Amino acid sequence: MDHAATAPRRLLITGASRGIGRAAALIAAAQGWPVAVNYRQDRAAADAVVAAIAAQSGQSVALQADVSDPAQVEPLFDAAEAALGGLDAVIVNAGIVAPVMKLAQMDDARLDRMVRVNVLGSLYCAREAARRLPRPKDQPPAAILLMSSASARLGSPGEFVDYAATKGAIDTLTLGLARELGSENIRVNAIRPGLIDTDMQADSGIPDRAFRMAGNIPMGRPGTADEVARAAIWLVSDAARYVSGAILDVSGGR
Ligand code: NAP
Repeated sequence: MDHAATAPRRLLITGASRGIGRAAALIAAAQGWPVAVNYRQDRAAADAVVAAIAAQSGQSVALQADVSDPAQVEPLFDAAEAALGGLDAVIVNAGIVAPVMKLAQMDDARLDRMVRVNVLGSLYCAREAARRLPRPKDQPPAAILLMSSASARLGSPGEFVDYAATKGAIDTLTLGLARELGSENIRVNAIRPGLIDTDMQADSGIPDRAFRMAGNIPMGRPGTADEVARAAIWLVSDAARYVSGAILDVSGGR
């Protein structure tokens, strides 16, 4: 067994009160990693993640911050470093979707919020990680994982091309940042989840959307948050120590 591969990583996950981020926090904590659980508004849900981790004798802390506000991102990272004694990895996961409609029907407020949370929020968090994670080459590399979407390559016509476009930006950010930060011993990767059964589906206005669209998925079913989170934790672990600039589809073949 390669012990370096499973060595504890001090991990911050944005948007970890629910869905994929929550699942990643539980998996990380179960393997002994200290975890900072960021959330925006659902304090009870974040506290429940921390309680579930404590019940497994794990270490975690819930940290409120809206990643779309740059003034809240630096304090979030300060608090995570203070609580965990430093940071080795960040999963930039927080993201939003909005009700299904055509671009022609979308109002300014929706487009502004979509770009603010999914693009600017990810840029603010990735920037803060880039400032704090550099380390000497004789240490295991630090890791940033960005959360894209299969929509970045499918475009989501008639549903949410705005969301898809924000995720295209995440793919490009992953490619550029991996090259920019390699010399600082930071790996940067992304995951493109497909249709995953989380609360986000309800935010599209069609709560059972992932199941309704199962016929479009080669594996014939939606994915679970846990299935995406397992790939995410592998990518930030030292088991993936030579993987950087990769965008991994976790989408049942879609
Ligand atoms: P989810 O179940 O809706 O959970 C979203 C999480 O993000 C919550 O913890 C929420 O916190 C947090 N969040 C939202 N806006 C935030 C903000 N401005 N600042 C900080 N935290 C914020 O979502 P999910 O399905 O797990 O999705 C996670 C990521 O995967 C997203 O980037 C999404 O685009 C991507 N993804 C999901 C799917 C899918 O089918 N589910 C597919 C492709 C990609 P609160 O509860 O406090 O609001």
